[in-house]
Amino acid sequence: MKKFFTGNFGVFIVSVASFLPVFFWIFQEPISIRFATTFSVFRSFGQVFGLIGMSMFAVVLFLSARLKIFDKYFDGLGRAYDLHHFLGGLAFSFILFHPLFLALAYFSMAPPLALSFLFYPSTFAINYGRIGFLIMAILLILTFYYKTSIKYQNWKLSHKLLGAAFFFGGLHSLFITSDISTNVVLRWYILILSALGLAAYIYRTLLYPFSVKRYLYKVSTIRKIGNDVIEITMLPLESKMKYKIGQFIFVSFKSDVVGKESHPFSLISSPDDNFIRIAAKSSGDYTKNLTNLSIGDLAEVEGAFGVFSPEKSKNKNQIWIAGGIGITPFLSAARGLDWKNFSVDLYYSFKEESDGVYLKELQNISNQVGNLKVVPWISQDKGKINFYEIKKLDSKIKDKSIFICGPSTMIESLKKDFINGGVSKKNIFSEEFSM
Ligand SMILES: Cc1cc2nc3c(=O)[nH]c(=O)nc-3n(C[C@H](O)[C@H](O)[C@H](O)COP(=O)(O)OP(=O)(O)OC[C@H]3O[C@@H](n4cnc5c(N)ncnc54)[C@H](O)[C@@H]3O)c2cc1C
Repeated sequence: MKKFFTGNFGVFIVSVASFLPVFFWIFQEPISIRFATTFSVFRSFGQVFGLIGMSMFAVVLFLSARLKIFDKYFDGLGRAYDLHHFLGGLAFSFILFHPLFLALAYFSMAPPLALSFLFYPSTFAINYGRIGFLIMAILLILTFYYKTSIKYQNWKLSHKLLGAAFFFGGLHSLFITSDISTNVVLRWYILILSALGLAAYIYRTLLYPFSVKRYLYKVSTIRKIGNDVIEITMLPLESKMKYKIGQFIFVSFKSDVVGKESHPFSLISSPDDNFIRIAAKSSGDYTKNLTNLSIGDLAEVEGAFGVFSPEKSKNKNQIWIAGGIGITPFLSAARGLDWKNFSVDLYYSFKEESDGVYLKELQNISNQVGNLKVVPWISQDKGKINFYEIKKLDSKIKDKSIFICGPSTMIESLKKDFINGGVSKKNIFSEEFSM
């Protein structure tokens, strides 16, 4: 029950918030009248889809606020972002069907009416809706269909512009003559929800430099480890950011050569350290550029976020599985955990011997703490790490909690096999390195 109110409470609230307007709509007018004629059936669907679409859109904007409380109510910021993406697509579908159903309603009376409804200049309220719809359609088509080929920063910019679509959609829903204008409760509900969505958007996007709390750090050491990993240590210039084992930050370096974008990285330092440290694998333009950082460069750090901690599970007999750079949250755990109660097997999987950049250090920690067993997994020799191989080495898998961090494909296939192999879903915890 407690887990429901932490992990799933947020999902429950955003679902209710998105669909509640239908409840108000149902009681506004008898259903028999709502569905009396072909025209009214299509019009009703159009209204309901519009109401849900706009409420969900407000919820989607709210979810983009990247608030720390999301960790608690969505079981991690990553999950809040997953929900944000999922509901974003769904909101768009509802909004898309809103004018289509209304057009069908007019079509059922006389086909030319449908065309003039869709394309003829009309009242301000309708035109606001058209503008909002067009902005949303163009941006979402770009973001959904070209997500893999457009640069992350352009994708992010197109996302930011969605606020304008919401603004026009909001004007449309508040000024149009409809159930919203006649039902006071519905009107206030939509107003409050829209205000929340807009406030979140203003907080995160328009007023970001002033509204979002960030900590100022200074790069103190830069260390290249292995072929493509760079370790960056930063010292606080003002107050020190508090964080827990396994958490991550968004960091933006004040450096013209690297770029000021903000990117997420897990902390590999221990919460007791005076400094913070990250390890970044070069995987794209930004991370490749990190080698150009200089000692003394300033960094703005937002966080810390995330709930991916071995302390999260009551079961202290654990298996940790790291794929490549997915080792980072486990490094902070290995360094900062109170090892008295834990017994952990860490499977550290990497492609070839030179990629196991933290193996030695982990083996040293293992020698000190005693309760940590490190199992290197060189996939070039042994193939990809999988449930069946782990089971051969460990017959007590079912009694353990499993923590996985690495590429999404690895997480998904391991999770599936562990569940099929009898491990309870609630004992599997994972962290994906993408949002
Ligand atoms: C919770 C979390 C923790 C992470 N921890 C680490 C870590 O400890 N070490 C490490 O090397 N990597 C980590 N990453 C991944 C790291 O953030 C990305 O590799 C990096 O942002 C890629 O940027 P790029 O421009 O070099 O690559 P690109 O090729 O531009 O991006 C590759 C992918 O990374 C994601 N990405 C890019 N930019 C951002 C951004 N600004 N914000 C969010 N996602 C973005 C996108 O999904 C993109 O498709 C973490 C990611 C997350 C979500």
